[in-house]
Parts: sequence; C-alpha cells; structure tokens
Amino acid sequence: MTETISASELPGESKTPVNFIHAIIEEDIRNGKNGGRVHTRFPPEPNGYLHIGHAKSICLNFGTALKYNGKCNLRFDDTNPVKEDVEYVDSIRDDVHWLGFDWEGREFFASDYFHQIYEFAEKLILKGKAYVCDLSAEQIAEQKGSPTRPGQESPYRNRPVEENLDLLRRMKAGEFPEGSRVLRAKIDMASPNMHMRDPILYRIIHTEHHRTGNEWCIYPMYDFAHGQSDSIEGITHSICTLEFEVHRPLYDWCIRELEIFAPQQIEFARLNMTYTVMSKRKLLELVKNNFVSGWDDPRMPTISGLRRRGYTPASIRNFADLVGVAKRENVIDVGLLEFCIREDLNKNANRLMGVINPVKLVITSFPEDLVEEMNAVNNPENPDAGSRKVAFTRELYIEREDFMEDPPSKFFRLAPGREVRLKYAYIIRCESVVKDPVSGEITEIHCTHDPETLSGRSESNRKVKGTLHWVSATQCTEAEIRLYDRLFMGENPEDVPEGEDYKKNLNPNSLKVVKGYIESSAANAPVLDKYQFERLGYFCVDSDSKPGNLVFNRTVALKDSWAKSNANN
Ligand code: ATP
Ligand code: MG
Repeated sequence: MTETISASELPGESKTPVNFIHAIIEEDIRNGKNGGRVHTRFPPEPNGYLHIGHAKSICLNFGTALKYNGKCNLRFDDTNPVKEDVEYVDSIRDDVHWLGFDWEGREFFASDYFHQIYEFAEKLILKGKAYVCDLSAEQIAEQKGSPTRPGQESPYRNRPVEENLDLLRRMKAGEFPEGSRVLRAKIDMASPNMHMRDPILYRIIHTEHHRTGNEWCIYPMYDFAHGQSDSIEGITHSICTLEFEVHRPLYDWCIRELEIFAPQQIEFARLNMTYTVMSKRKLLELVKNNFVSGWDDPRMPTISGLRRRGYTPASIRNFADLVGVAKRENVIDVGLLEFCIREDLNKNANRLMGVINPVKLVITSFPEDLVEEMNAVNNPENPDAGSRKVAFTRELYIEREDFMEDPPSKFFRLAPGREVRLKYAYIIRCESVVKDPVSGEITEIHCTHDPETLSGRSESNRKVKGTLHWVSATQCTEAEIRLYDRLFMGENPEDVPEGEDYKKNLNPNSLKVVKGYIESSAANAPVLDKYQFERLGYFCVDSDSKPGNLVFNRTVALKDSWAKSNANN
C-alpha cells in the first residue's frame, strides 16, 4: 500500500544546502510576496507513463510544498486530444501516490479551464493583442524568419477586432476545417525570441477529447494554457525544465496582457541518466513495438517499471535529493540510482538463500533422511528482523561458480580436497566429483561434513577461507529468476551515426531468464516482496508470480559488478 510522507521524512533536509529554487522561494517569503504563500504544481501531460525524470519533478514540486508548508496541485495538462488517454491519467495518479505524495484532492485538468481560457482569448482580441490568421502551417513557418532574420508580418495581422471576434467564434462553432485558421498573439515579428513572433494560441482540431468529448474543436496551445492554468490555481512558483526558459517571456506577456494573477516560472535542468532514454515518445515506441513487455517492464526507466523491478519510493526520493537541482544540462550516472536502492534494501530487505546456477552437492557423511533446521539471521543490519529456520539435508544445491576442479591459488571456494563453510551450517570438504560421461560436465560434488563445526557453536571456531550459500535440494522451492542487464548499450543511447536511431543501441542481452532454487520459507512470498539473496543481489517478487509459480526479478547486484567488469575489459 502507499504511504504518504511528511516534511520530516523528506530525505536530506539537513545535509543538502538550499538549492537555487528554494533560495528564490525563501527570498519571496522574506519579502512577503504572495502573502508568504507557496503553491506549486506537478503538470504531466497524460500521453504516457511517468519516468524517473518526472519522479525528480514530483519530488521537487511536492517536496518544496512540504518544506515551506505550502500546497502542491496535480494538474493534467490535457490540451492535445490526439495523444492523450485515461489509461495514462490513472497510471500517473498511482505513481504520484506510490512515491509518497498527496495532492489532497487538488486534482485539476487544464481542460477544466477551457471556457475560461477561451474568454482570455476573446479578451486579447478586444485589446487588439490577438488575431485570426488564415495562413497555412507551412506559410506561418516560412514567414517566421530565423533567429538572425526577422519574420514577416501576416497579411491578416491587422484584421479589425470585430472580424477577429467573429472568426474565432465561428472557429469554435466548428465552421472551419482543421488547419484552415489559427488564433495568433500580436506581439513582434522581429523579436530576437522566436516564441514572441506572433505565436499560435489556438488551433482547430476535430478530435474527441478524453474528458470534454466533442464540446470543443479548438484547443489552446501549451503556451496559452499552462501559465493561464497556473494563474487560475494561484500557483506561486511554476517550476519547469530548462527548455521552457525561452517560453518565459511569452508566459509573462500573456499574464500581463490578461491582467491576471502572476505566478513566477522558474526553470531547472531536466534529469538525464546514462544508459537510458528519457522521453515519453521514445518509451512509447519501445512499448508499441514490443522491444519491452510494457510500460512496467522492469528494464524501463518508468516509475511503474522501477516499482516492478523492486525499487522503493524512499530510494527514488533519496535519489532525487542526491541529484539536486541544477541550472545546466547534465547527465547522472545510473549507478547513483542503483546505489540508492542498495542502500535502502541493505537496511530493509530480509536475507534469503537462493541458488541461480545450481550444481548438486551431496554430503555423503550426512544421514539420508535427516532434515536439520538451521538458524538463519534475517537481517544483520536490523536486530528486529529476527531469524528463521532453513532446512539442511544430505543433498544440496550450490552455485556452479563456487566450485573449481582445478582452481588458481586465489580461489577460496570449493575445490577437490579443500574445505569451505556452508553458511549457517557445517564446514565441508570436497572428496570427489561425478561427471556426465558424454559432456564431461560436473553433475554432482561429493563432500563430507565435520559435525563438530555447526555454525554458531563456540567450539566451531575453526577458520576456513570461504563461506558458500546453499539450498536443500529436497526442501526448496523452484523459482523463475529474471536477470537484467542495461536496456541500452553505450552511456548515451542517443549517440548514433547519421541516419540511425537510438534503438540500434538496444542491448540484445538485457534479459536472461534462469531456473533457480530458493529456501521454501519464501514459497508464498507476495508480489513486490523484496529480499537479499545472499551473495547474489537484491531480488523482488514479480507481478507475474503465482503460488507454485514463483517469479523473481533481480533488482540490482550486491556490488557494482557491471561497472567493474567493464573497467577490466
Ligand atoms: P518527455 O519529454 O519525457 O515526454 P515531458 O516534459 O513532455 O516529458 P510532461 O508530462 O510535460 O512530460 O512533464 C511533466 C513535468 O515533468 C513537467 O514539469 C516537466 O518539465 C517535468 N519533467 C519531464 N521530464 C523531466 C526530466 N527528465 N527531469 C525533470 N523533470 C522532468
Ligand atoms: Mg510535455
């Protein structure tokens, strides 16, 4: 279930210096601006599932409101009926709640304001600040000029107010085909800022909207909806990403000309991460073309994918805090996200033994029918986590990598004639191996145990160099284990030669499925249960899992083995 966090639970309040956005807000509070009120919003467009970049924005907007005793709205920016869908609205609500934030009923839709925004448009026309333009999209683009060359004024720019009003009303009434006319702001075709060159405010789209149905056939552009919605809601600080910096003069122009409450737009650098694409359009493409199993595929950087993979809300909030708030574009190492989940699960996930590349080990000195219950600590980092019993029997599984027939001197695991400890159990000694007569592959390792060395007894202090994890071959549960690698090869998947695209960098080996064996104590583990499989990493029960058909995702390896193995290449 989801839990809502409070200001005192925000990560890093004490350790992080005040970021530049909070510095602006604190200055505003000191100056009594907006009566000291702080009101932010998170404004997703419901055209896809949220990703880790959105999580950063959610933590910043909701976290800022919590910190300054303010409010944060959830606002769906649904001004483009062509790409939006209720499925996305539902997933966005779930994801924000899951991250631990609550909009306290202040859930709004830009489409709720369509009437008000339309009135704003008529107001601009009456002030002589907007006109209906009959040029085609191509003609408008052609006449826009370039950053170094002024644009041309539209022949419709000086239409009389009455004619503009009449045409806008008829656009609204559905008299004209799509693309035949637009409403434009009358600003300055020579402005060095291209966004100020008579930008489009309204366009005709004859498409049903997921909320307003067929009520409207004209829809406001982002630039004529976002600031207006902010103003209507009394947003004090409208936090957005850097690409909107160049839109700010238009944002402010609209607010000024409409003479409405003025929120302050503040931009910060969007989160980019290595080995990851971070655009809903591209993520949608991966889903639509079945490169992944869905929006919540555990390899996806979506919030739903991370959740299914085994990430916790706290780990993502902590990541958002560590990343900080930057004014310049940058790329964060995905290893930082992995660090955050390791840190969380190390403290909070119970330990479990599981073997994912099994080879059978037979303790010839151990009675055939005996099941000995070994005492295993659930979590050495958490004394309250208690302990459990693990069945120890004559036949066990250990990892194939933990045995070598002809080991180098630095190999401290099992080899012929060598001793190791089996965790929570005995010291064993390898006596012989059995091989498949055809393939030569080792099928069984035969050992004897020293009954005087049971783990935890004072007389068992004999030291051996290696300790191995294991599971009983007869008292265990089989599980499907999904091992993930990066979805993309190359730190920057978008870095491809001319004419090719990021999909070329998809890692063909990003998913490996193996059959493993785990302690039967986890046989009925519910979906999303998280464990540290000793020596292997952190694992989480997948949503495909069913009783009798357990499926685990590897969330992350114990150490950053990936970076290390690459460094060695
Ligand atoms: P994308 O480019 O991935 O499709 P978007 O910006 O179009 O994302 P919106 O739904 O418009 O997606 O975004 C909602 C909010 O999340 C906006 O305020 C946006 O600035 C912010 N946001 C989106 N991507 C990031 C990111 N990578 N880092 C930080 N904030 C982001
Ligand atoms: Mg957007």
